[in-house]
Amino acid sequence: MSIDYQGILEKIQQEVQPLIGQGKVATYIPELAKVSPHHFGMAVYCLDGRRFAVGDAFQKFSTQSVTKLFALALAFEREGDAIWKRVGREPSGNPFNSLTQLEYERGVPRNPFINAGALVINDILAQRFVQADVAVLQFMRQLADQPKIEFDRAVALSEQKHAHRNNAIAHLMKDFGNLHNPVDTVIDSYCRQCAISMSCMELAQAGSFLANHGTIPWSGQVILDSSSAKRLNAVMLTCGTYDVAGDFAFRVGLPAKSGVGGGILAIVPGELAVCVWSPGLDSAGNSLAGVMALELFTTMTARSIF
Ligand code: GLU
Repeated sequence: MSIDYQGILEKIQQEVQPLIGQGKVATYIPELAKVSPHHFGMAVYCLDGRRFAVGDAFQKFSTQSVTKLFALALAFEREGDAIWKRVGREPSGNPFNSLTQLEYERGVPRNPFINAGALVINDILAQRFVQADVAVLQFMRQLADQPKIEFDRAVALSEQKHAHRNNAIAHLMKDFGNLHNPVDTVIDSYCRQCAISMSCMELAQAGSFLANHGTIPWSGQVILDSSSAKRLNAVMLTCGTYDVAGDFAFRVGLPAKSGVGGGILAIVPGELAVCVWSPGLDSAGNSLAGVMALELFTTMTARSIF
């Protein structure tokens, strides 16, 4: 039986209305604090090319940590299993910007989705590409089939000016020998990467190769082999939604990556990618309305990995 995705998205939009505007917009990057918490958008990109959207699904927003997924995919594609020598793949159970765990685990980040791990991935990319952030940008343009995707320079600068904690993390890893490029280079590149602006529809399309065993559905280009795509989906499921990945799996049941801009990209293997955006965050840093929307989505469509 075919699923009425458009009808379901419209129903979800109505049901999450009471939550929209309730969460807190991230303020530690001052430029993000200017975004209204009242946005809500959701987009579905099916492997057969059908697209469905509601609300602000075509409005650009700051993708932030959602880019960590694409940086990881690019590094994994280039370096293969060698990346796991420098970054782990266990949930951290700690805040995404924690320094303490990194100290007692001797500069090897728990996973590529906490800030320390994403900095290591950026460092790995910097050894392969002239500029890691530009490589990630071009990769996302290719995956979304959208050459106009850009950095938001105001957001990048705003984060660079306030990146004291990320600087501390990078220096600690440098001290442990797990950062090869200069700290400033990696931080600047990482902040620009996080400042890539995209819409829900663009992100859903960009993520669809992960629903399609690593192959871009519309072009047939192989980005990752199916085994590698499986592994990335597993890291998303266990580590992709800050330190509440267990609760997210319980409620939503999909591999996903969230960001403090309020976006969450989730994958239904074999079928589609779905992206939701609402900037108000819950106490863990995930979009409050976004998590509820995805929970309703898997309940109403009976599409989860479980
Ligand atoms: N650029 C943000 C930071 O490093 C990303 C945080 C996030 O979205 O999780 O703090």
